[in-house]
Amino acid sequence: MKSQNPQLDEPLIFKKSSKMRKGIPVLKSDVGDTIPENTIPRELLREDINGFPEVSEIDVVRHFTRLSHWNFGVDTGFYPLGSCTMKYNPKINEDIARLAGFSKVHPYQSEELNQGALQLMYELEGFLCEISGMDAVTLQPAAGAHGELCGMLMIAKYFKENGKPRKKVIIPDTAHGTNPASSHLAGFTVVSVKEENGGVITPEAVASAMDEDTAALMLTNPNTLGLFEKHIKEIAEIVHKKGGFIYCDGANLNAIMGIAKLGDMGVDVIQFNLHKTFSTPHRGPWQRACRREEAP
Ligand SMILES: *Cc1c(COP(=O)(O)O)cnc(C)c1O
Repeated sequence: MKSQNPQLDEPLIFKKSSKMRKGIPVLKSDVGDTIPENTIPRELLREDINGFPEVSEIDVVRHFTRLSHWNFGVDTGFYPLGSCTMKYNPKINEDIARLAGFSKVHPYQSEELNQGALQLMYELEGFLCEISGMDAVTLQPAAGAHGELCGMLMIAKYFKENGKPRKKVIIPDTAHGTNPASSHLAGFTVVSVKEENGGVITPEAVASAMDEDTAALMLTNPNTLGLFEKHIKEIAEIVHKKGGFIYCDGANLNAIMGIAKLGDMGVDVIQFNLHKTFSTPHRGPWQRACRREEAP
């Protein structure tokens, strides 16, 4: 079927094949045998590939250049996909992230050659503590959901170390889908609480679900309906009174950053999604933070 955009009508490279056409003609050598069958061990040679396209260099270049124009990105148009995919990074930030000092650092590089990067990471941890109201940050987790899992595993470990493992995690139905997934992977049973009053979770609903077998309440703020959870402080008090933790999915931190600190609201553990709230290019590091306070 023809599309409306002729550029999208690029045929398969197999359709461009023409018998005996070649990318590069191998010239006859005057310094010895250049026939691959005579010089390369037989077991390293591939059998004929049935229907392999026979195309010229320019056929190949034009075919793949045309295909490359099919890439749809924020540089060519708006794509309303998700909180990270629709984000626009200023070009200057992209350039800075690609500085060789960042992009070429090798994990096995010696510590004395990594001092600049280590200093930046150390200072970043401090900034993130200040922004979130947490006491400590790790730069280890490699994605938002990975940060959630790390945080929930820490909560599980806390109760285990204290000899009183807890089984449940309360999650409002307005939380992000990764929240129940991370809790489940960390070994918890998820107790779902319904939103009320037009989309937010109420202290009453939490109070009736909270008990001493519940390790944490995990919420997303702003929540997945795009609304601010208004009663976090009260909810945190209810959960803390029964010895539980508050995990707040911080993926949407850009909505409250610089205005309110999650730590001040009684939140104990969060993850930052640096590719959403900040300018980390996709596939960069993410982090998770936690309050180092004694158990509530
Ligand atoms: C994007 C997002 C996540 C998951 O983050 P990833 O980096 O994609 O793993 C979790 N929670 C919320 C609210 C998100 O928007």
